[in-house]
Amino acid sequence: TLTAERGASGTDSRDHVPLLDALRDAIGAAYVLTDAQDLATRLVEDRGLRSGTAIALLRPGSTEEVATCLRLCQTAKVPVTPQGGNTGLAGGGVPDGGIILTTDRLNRIRQVDPTNATMTVEAGCILANIQAAADEVDALFPLSLASEGSCQIGGNLSTNAGGTAVLRYGNTRDLVLGVEVVLPDGRVLNDLNGLRKNNTGYDLKNLFIGAEGTLGIITAAVIKLFPKPTARATALVACTGPDPALALYARMRSQTADTLSTFEYIDRLGLQMVVDHAPGCSDPMVEVHPAYCLIELTGNGAQADLDARLEGALEAAFEAEEIIDAVIGASEAQKDALWALRENLSEAQKPEGASIKHDVSVPVSRVADFIKVATQACMDHMPGLRPCPFGHFGDGNLHFNLSRPVDMADADFLAEYGAFNRIVHDIVHEMGGSFSAEHGIGTFKRAELRRYKDPVALELMEQLKAVLDPGQMLNPGKVL
Ligand code: FAD
Repeated sequence: TLTAERGASGTDSRDHVPLLDALRDAIGAAYVLTDAQDLATRLVEDRGLRSGTAIALLRPGSTEEVATCLRLCQTAKVPVTPQGGNTGLAGGGVPDGGIILTTDRLNRIRQVDPTNATMTVEAGCILANIQAAADEVDALFPLSLASEGSCQIGGNLSTNAGGTAVLRYGNTRDLVLGVEVVLPDGRVLNDLNGLRKNNTGYDLKNLFIGAEGTLGIITAAVIKLFPKPTARATALVACTGPDPALALYARMRSQTADTLSTFEYIDRLGLQMVVDHAPGCSDPMVEVHPAYCLIELTGNGAQADLDARLEGALEAAFEAEEIIDAVIGASEAQKDALWALRENLSEAQKPEGASIKHDVSVPVSRVADFIKVATQACMDHMPGLRPCPFGHFGDGNLHFNLSRPVDMADADFLAEYGAFNRIVHDIVHEMGGSFSAEHGIGTFKRAELRRYKDPVALELMEQLKAVLDPGQMLNPGKVL
């Protein structure tokens, strides 16, 4: 029986009875959901910034069922929005009418091959479960995000997610050898190879990685495993600002070589917000400092060797006045407590009122300049503003977040969203950077894509979309 009502999801499923009946026949009635209650959380973006409408939520259980769903939807000319964990931060998973297709039932680990150092996973596997499965065979899958308990590998691939381990292991794109993708017309592209060498024409998998569900639905992938580090050495250090932080980064790279796996920057305001608002978090240093870096080395040798390497580099950094204070995690619990200061940053900003966020990247050599120039420009635009830059300094990606002045109303501050975007993104562009480092385009940054992307690149993107999805069936209105 059809239970959705007009207005509940904003779209009436009664207009699509033949399609819904065919979908029920194909994947089972229990997996074609039309109740407003079942759809509610699927219609809204993670932070509640954007919401949409949909006729139904489909939960196919196999690649073949995904293919059948897309074929039926294409015939009925009803667009499909793919969804994983719905943790994306660019609005790419918010439906605009049509059907939502979730991969949550495609959650099998198809194969683990420790000798090839690969794992074949279905798109709906939750990232934390993949990490745990790698751990079981004494291996590491290094992709790590604060949303790892709910985001899915298909979503990670489709957004080319970054996270805290990019410095050493690369983005999601660098962690994948092969993919299986269902195209909008229902054809299945089988490029599910576990090869590290395969020069047989165009690298098609990279078309779908980072495409945010606009070209096909990823149903499985072969991902790379790495040796599991046996030791980690973690420190929070204080600096007088971004310039010494950059000098420190260069030193750490040369003195700790390939053991450097984390180099995160935290502005004082950000640390203060965490101390004020995150339960259990406290400032591990006695003095208050302008800026901090969270540094971690990981390796497979003895713990004592890694500790000595970290301490040696930090001693030299003290002498060179790149750092003015440091706390080294002496136990696993202390290391976790230092990490908590970084991991709670986004959440700790919320009680401070509205914030305007920028997920940007510049060449690492320009990161310090960027922080200084963008902070000054934004302060000039709005005196009393509280800039809170933090993030993946070591790979050039900063979350350049701006918290509103203490005594300003949220709405008045958010009215300046466009103005701040222009200031920050123009500076990023001038420095050869990107206005979207790891969160993608979705709907939030489409205008910025038009403004900053090379026109020929945009034209090629449009031509590719037209070839693969001529009917605009898959995630219409996203990215392009
Ligand atoms: P969804 O949000 O469901 O979808 C994201 C996009 O991919 C949508 O456009 C959707 O249509 C498409 N899509 C999803 N699955 C498929 C599929 N199988 N085939 C084709 N298209 C698909 N991101 C980072 O990069 N780095 C971070 O450090 C980071 N930290 C975060 C911290 C928090 C607390 C939160 C809430 C988010 C964070 N994110 C981060 C953003 C988000 O977690 C990532 O973008 C993640 O990769 C999205 O995965 P998902 O399964 O939730 O995808």
